[in-house]
Amino acid sequence: RAKAEGGNRFALADPDSDARAISRHHLTHHLPAALRGAEFFIEYQPLVKMRDGSLEGAEALVRWSHPRHGVLGPDRFIPLAEHTGLIVPLGRWVLREAVRQACQWQVRGIGGARPLKVNVNLSPRQLHHPELVEDTIAVLEEAGLPPSSLCLEVTETAMIRADENELRPLRQLADLGVGIALDDFGTGYSNLANLRRLPASTLKLDRSFTQGLQRAPADPVDLKIVEGIVSLAHTLELSVTVEGVETSTQADQLRDLGCDSAQGWYYARPGPPERLPEAV
Ligand code: C2E
Ligand code: MG
Ligand code: MG
Ligand code: MG
Repeated sequence: RAKAEGGNRFALADPDSDARAISRHHLTHHLPAALRGAEFFIEYQPLVKMRDGSLEGAEALVRWSHPRHGVLGPDRFIPLAEHTGLIVPLGRWVLREAVRQACQWQVRGIGGARPLKVNVNLSPRQLHHPELVEDTIAVLEEAGLPPSSLCLEVTETAMIRADENELRPLRQLADLGVGIALDDFGTGYSNLANLRRLPASTLKLDRSFTQGLQRAPADPVDLKIVEGIVSLAHTLELSVTVEGVETSTQADQLRDLGCDSAQGWYYARPGPPERLPEAV
């Protein structure tokens, strides 16, 4: 775990108790300087096509390399950045950086004939920012990345809370070819009929469903639930990506249930961009 989080000595010593000791106030206070001082970095976790195991792309996951507290995961600072509004410039930085990185992979031909995609998480505050569409188009054009090589991940919860005005920017981006994924699906109590009105192209099934399939044979009800979600998603022409696949047992069952793509430690942990070619 320490290795996955950057391998710093602090994390090895005692990641959680140290992290807990840092106050929210302290982190919030230092966020702006951290952004100016380039203390953030991105790890990429491979997304794999289940049918043939080929590399499809990667999700960009931000980390904070804190000068005193070591590497902090996004759960420690994204909510604070969201609260203070700093998520907007931070998110813009992640987007620009990830798009630039995807462009490099494509130029170097990593992933073979199919161009690799990059997934970037969007928080609710970014979703509501008036310049989301403009900014995103500008970032894609600046790097020269085709819109279809970018997928924006919005949690199911944020998406179902959005009204028509708030969905419009996502729809505009979707019309340009940008993929939209419903992240952590299954945790947000969607009105299933409502899924139809969302501009999503992919449903990312939350890790909690994957966890139910750790043993074979899995609980038949767990299997039926995933089967039902996959079938509903496919009816709505959404592809299904599963999160948190940790074992071959899970991978086999999820493939047999018709899931299209997968992400998880079984395939690869999040890592620096240089490591992605090894995942091909
Ligand atoms: P997420 O988008 O659902 O990302 C997947 C999380 O699951 C990542 O945690 C990843 O490291 C972890 N994961 C992947 N495979 C496995 C596995 O097999 N087992 C287990 N137990 N975990 C696995 P991480 O990197 O800590 O990110 C947590 C959350 O922080 C993300 O959840 C996302 O919601 C948010 N986040 C990360 N980067 C950004 C960002 O740039 N902007 C925004 N707004 N949110 C971000
Ligand atoms: Mg995500
Ligand atoms: Mg997710
Ligand atoms: Mg998740």
